[in-house]
Amino acid sequence: MVDFGIHGMVWVGGWSRADAEKTIGSAARLGYDRVEIPVFEPDTFDADHTREMLSKHGIKAGVSLGLDVDHDISSTDTAVVERGAAHLRKVLGLTAAVGGDYLGGVIFCALHKYRQAADPKGRANSVAVIRELAREARNSGIDIGLEAVNRYESNIINTGGHALRFIDEVGEDNVYVHLDSYHMNIEEGDNAGAIELCGERLGYFHVNESHRGYLGTGNIAFTPMFRALARIGYKRTIAFEAFSTAVTNPVLSAMVAVWRDLWNDSDDLAAHALAYMKREMADALKAEEIVAKR
Ligand code: MN
Repeated sequence: MVDFGIHGMVWVGGWSRADAEKTIGSAARLGYDRVEIPVFEPDTFDADHTREMLSKHGIKAGVSLGLDVDHDISSTDTAVVERGAAHLRKVLGLTAAVGGDYLGGVIFCALHKYRQAADPKGRANSVAVIRELAREARNSGIDIGLEAVNRYESNIINTGGHALRFIDEVGEDNVYVHLDSYHMNIEEGDNAGAIELCGERLGYFHVNESHRGYLGTGNIAFTPMFRALARIGYKRTIAFEAFSTAVTNPVLSAMVAVWRDLWNDSDDLAAHALAYMKREMADALKAEEIVAKR
């Protein structure tokens, strides 16, 4: 069964105890199966408390992040790569400590606008670090997801095809493609085709409007994407992601260029998104069943 998740930044910009309670409690109350926890400050992250909250509310969790330039594992500077690898190991430890089953995002390079194409040596560094991370993650039953993001946020993985090629180089079977409709809308030629190309190697799907606001108020055609998810028999996570200046995190907000106030009622946005995603998925499954019988 597909599980429906939501990014923590729909409610909070940090991860204090109060933030964790608010996010996990709200997501569970609205009927979400999973929370995606953004981890930017692993040193102040209270994993025991988050684990308690998750178990109290009966909801699953995954962790996501984008690396900054000081922790860029695609760097050609060994010290930077080692710093990045240590950071990822620390976040992997937190993922395990909260009982999470997924660690993903822009973890293969820095989430920022590169001024040059990726260096082959830097790319090889990234592949090697992700391989080690995946091996360590397997011991805790954690899957690794590499999120294909637009050209202004990575110079290594912009499409599902790029992610597949990178994962082939990594060569570990707990590394999956993470697609996001917002980025696909910019970079893919054929959104449904990209989902089908990934097939069973698609491990995580972000549902995100063209402006990252309310679903259905932007220009993304979601129905063909949900139809493609139904066709590949997708059974993993579909997670809603949205950003607004109503909720800001000084690190992530600048990374993903959140300058607009697109929504300010987190609960209303989240409830609307869950209903929207469930309806799209149910309609897509039904449509594919009808088509298959013809
Ligand atoms: Mn995303």
